[in-house]
Amino acid sequence: MDAREVILNTFRKHFGTDPALLARAPGRVNLIGEHTDYNDGFVLPAAINRAVYVAASPRDDDMVELVSVDFDDQSTFSLDVLDDPDLPGWTRYPRGALWWLGKKGYAVPGFNGVIGGDIPLASGLSSSAAVEVVMIELGLALVEAEIPQVDKALGGVEVENKFIGMPCGVMDQMASAMGVEQHVLLIDCRSLDARPIPVPDDASIVIMNTMKKRGLVDSEYARRREQCEAAAGKLGVKALRDANTMMLDAAKDDLGDVLYRRARHVITENLRVQATVMALKAGGLKTVGQALHNSHISLRDDYEVSCAELDVISELANAQPGCYGARMTGGGFGGCAVALVKDDAVEAFIAAVAPAYEEKTGLKPELYVCQAAAGSSVEQL
Ligand code: ADP
Ligand code: MG
Repeated sequence: MDAREVILNTFRKHFGTDPALLARAPGRVNLIGEHTDYNDGFVLPAAINRAVYVAASPRDDDMVELVSVDFDDQSTFSLDVLDDPDLPGWTRYPRGALWWLGKKGYAVPGFNGVIGGDIPLASGLSSSAAVEVVMIELGLALVEAEIPQVDKALGGVEVENKFIGMPCGVMDQMASAMGVEQHVLLIDCRSLDARPIPVPDDASIVIMNTMKKRGLVDSEYARRREQCEAAAGKLGVKALRDANTMMLDAAKDDLGDVLYRRARHVITENLRVQATVMALKAGGLKTVGQALHNSHISLRDDYEVSCAELDVISELANAQPGCYGARMTGGGFGGCAVALVKDDAVEAFIAAVAPAYEEKTGLKPELYVCQAAAGSSVEQL
């Protein structure tokens, strides 16, 4: 049974009726452009065919009764007291989205709901952004309001920044809300322009979950952001997006080793995104693969957000015939890597990488081909 069916069935079983609405928001995989979004830079993610769903029906009071399939739990809370710290941890993201909707003046009614999906949690595929966006989709549908997808994404970002307290950039929520089937999205994280770029017909995006739980990620993420701001300050630019390699080298002594390398990653990563887009358009998949490979090295050595497991799986992947290139994806310190693989080599690729990775690390990885999917949506049932 797929995740959508599980959610619908759980709703029927728990509440004894059919839901009125089913909202869906996909996870995302970032092909290239890592740790560039909060530097006003460029990213190239795709929404994927794994999503968080919420089935719901309105109630005539201000209570939300929410069932979580994946946490095997349920919680009832009032729309008037969304910041109650005694409520279960998994309700924080949904409550955050409801907080945002209230703040924006949408009088969302109480509802019965079931939430769950098939995005692996805390693996770099942005399940949290999917929860924020899916709850915003649901809340807007409950009050029959329509807003642009980009505004749903920005709502999700505000939830994550202000309600959860995670200073993430805009990429994850924009990919989840604005994805286009069979396309990656070139997002300019300053202008918020999002341009779909076709994924070549004969290439597959393979997600490789190292199954290494991310550690340290929140504190290190915040530290990287501070370092980028400090580097931008020393370079005299608003954000690292505005710096180039000549400026970087001129300021090398002033920046010191760490800030120099952090800035070098961001500056060269933005160039790699541009090179990737040009190569994708021209069908130059070898160039795309080289950019992916170089991105991994830069994240590993200059930005220092990789880990042994991500290095092992990316190296194994890069060495396979038919693999154009591979790299860690997402924030780092564990979670997933991504590879671009020739269609007819995918089976052999997975059959080679999975056991070799397990032998080297003792962890059983999960590898799957992902389809670039459409952004978030709601069905009236
Ligand atoms: P990710 O990289 O997947 O975004 P995060 O640590 O940012 O990882 O977010 C994971 C959190 O998002 C979970 O702890 C949970 O609170 C919420 N979440 C994700 N998926 C679901 C789900 N299917 N059901 C309920 N909550 C979810
Ligand atoms: Mg997240």
